[in-house]
Amino acid sequence: MAGPPVVVLGAGLTGLSAALSLERAGVEARVLERATRVGGHAVTDEDRGFRFDRTGHLLHLRDPGVRADVLRWIGDDRVSVARRSFVYSHGVYTRYPFQANTHGLPPEVAYECVMGFLDARSRERPPPRDFRDHCLQVFGEGISRHFMLPYNEKLWGVPATEITAAWCQRFVPVPRVEDVIAGAVGLHDRELGYNASFVYPRRGIGALPEAMAREARGVELGRLVTAVDWRARRVRVGAETVPYERLVSTLPLDVLGRALVDPPPEVRAAVERLRCTSLTYLDVAVRGAVLRDLHWVYVPERALPFYRVGCYSNFSPDVAPEGHSSLYVELAARGPADGAAISRALDALVTMGLLASRDDVLFVRARELSHAYVIFDHAYYGALAVIEPFLREQGILSTGRYGGWNYSSMEDALLFGRAAAREVLDAAGAR
Ligand SMILES: Cc1cc2nc3c(=O)[nH]c(=O)nc-3n(C[C@H](O)[C@H](O)[C@H](O)COP(=O)(O)OP(=O)(O)OC[C@H]3O[C@@H](n4cnc5c(N)ncnc54)[C@H](O)[C@@H]3O)c2cc1C
Repeated sequence: MAGPPVVVLGAGLTGLSAALSLERAGVEARVLERATRVGGHAVTDEDRGFRFDRTGHLLHLRDPGVRADVLRWIGDDRVSVARRSFVYSHGVYTRYPFQANTHGLPPEVAYECVMGFLDARSRERPPPRDFRDHCLQVFGEGISRHFMLPYNEKLWGVPATEITAAWCQRFVPVPRVEDVIAGAVGLHDRELGYNASFVYPRRGIGALPEAMAREARGVELGRLVTAVDWRARRVRVGAETVPYERLVSTLPLDVLGRALVDPPPEVRAAVERLRCTSLTYLDVAVRGAVLRDLHWVYVPERALPFYRVGCYSNFSPDVAPEGHSSLYVELAARGPADGAAISRALDALVTMGLLASRDDVLFVRARELSHAYVIFDHAYYGALAVIEPFLREQGILSTGRYGGWNYSSMEDALLFGRAAAREVLDAAGAR
């Protein structure tokens, strides 16, 4: 395709996938990335011999085309992981998902969960107004009180009443009665359907974008986009102005929205309604082994300061020096983690039996992600209905997990990139 330039903003998995798909079709795109390396959220940092991702990043590959590409990119230096995930509640570990594995909890808790579930199923109720209503209707009082509500409120950082039911109806599956009953009496064979297998590069997820970037020609690093002049169709990068005919943006939608030069007032207002959680997490380098053979554990109880802990070195031993291991700890509190917060988290890891003692900790790194989970609040759909059509009219396709302002995986990011490239090519063909 000869003619007006295509510019891609961001070299995370979506941007890289879009650029590679365009290149395969003979279209070279400039890819402007503010960081000094590719990968966005899917990167690996090396620190004192440990290799840390930005918390757990395992690949669920369902699409055969994406799977073939990913396996080719990361090559043989990979592991296949059959998920070992748990829930820690009332001082015990039960298997994930909570609602189908209440056996092992104190009997009165398991009883409350099962009876609440059966009671909820027997009632006729009006359509749920929000996530809290949805949980009570689908899971009942017990499962909602002991897992669904506290876990999700720690993760989202907002009350469950602020999240729409429309979102969870799409993403939170309704359990079958037989799964709930079987899980309460300890019949784990029923759990087989939940077992999932993941692919992971031996030395961290960063291997994937790095391999993709070796194939992509137009990636420019250290290029912070500060303004998008949608009328003149050009973006500002430092002192340079880059023209485009079609812009594929994978910047978070709120970042893109605030970079638009003089947008219509309704678009500006809609951008200000977008909400997203930040995440503060700890990377913990451990002398010796983590004491439980798990990949990650959900921690719903409000008294514990985090909502999930995972073990990087149980994904692949090659991400920690020999004789060592490593954890990530996703804190419920937002903002910088001070010494007291870190200390509370380490004590909780000992309480949970993941570490024998705090003396096993070699070092801890506190890290923040400005964008972790988009909040599907009551303003969500209305705001997107204003922003997306406006951008499209200006030749701007905003896509990816944060560009499309959604909840999605790395595989989805690769698919979003392909779809964006297809749209650009189709538009060029139609001209
Ligand atoms: C805590 C957490 C755990 C996750 N775990 C998993 C998992 O186990 N499995 C899974 O499949 N998915 C997981 N995901 C989702 C996965 O990380 C994302 O779906 C995927 O990485 C999104 O890629 P993206 O390219 O759309 O966005 P990003 O990775 O955010 O890429 C956007 C790029 O834009 C760049 N950028 C931003 N602003 C500018 C600017 N002004 N100028 C230029 N460049 C800019 C950024 O630097 C970045 O490189 C997880 C996400 C989180 C937050």
